[in-house]
Amino acid sequence: MDGNAALNRLLEGNKRFMTGKLAAKDVKTPREATKAGQKPFASILTCSDSRVVPEFIFDTTIGEIFVVRNAGNCVDTVSLGSLEYGAEHLRTPLLVVLGHEKCGAVTAACSGGVCPPNIQAIMDRIKPAVDKGSRGDVERTVICNVELTADEIRKRSDVISHLESGGHLKIVEMKYFFEDGRVHIIR
Ligand SMILES: [Zn+2]
Repeated sequence: MDGNAALNRLLEGNKRFMTGKLAAKDVKTPREATKAGQKPFASILTCSDSRVVPEFIFDTTIGEIFVVRNAGNCVDTVSLGSLEYGAEHLRTPLLVVLGHEKCGAVTAACSGGVCPPNIQAIMDRIKPAVDKGSRGDVERTVICNVELTADEIRKRSDVISHLESGGHLKIVEMKYFFEDGRVHIIR
């Protein structure tokens, strides 16, 4: 499967999710089929927000997507290493950075203020998007944050940028909407 086919598969799953008609979830068969190893078709970096559940949003099952989550879908050494593992070792042909509307982490970063140090580390990661995305506009900042995150993945990971330039990895930026469950492709 190449990156485009993997993307189509996610988008088809998202269509089913939007209509509420998910594929039948037999977890026993894929659990047994993957016990010797995993072969996911996409890596996804997204937010920890409890409403943003990629396995539901893309209607996937066990063994299909390699997911990295943290508040604000930020890049740090550990999340980047995880994405490299997905792209290089598991050979997922697609990497998705998925932000979402009304993101609490982005909202907090837009309002500024003082946070405890570990939360401040998240704010600091989102700050460039706040500066770029017309300060205070949460929804524009969500998009900027996804764009800058994808840029940073390329910049900070030789592994991933080489896979992309070699045509082995497609990187897609998306934003998720609660109202209808739609994922919108940013670029
Ligand atoms: Zn969020």
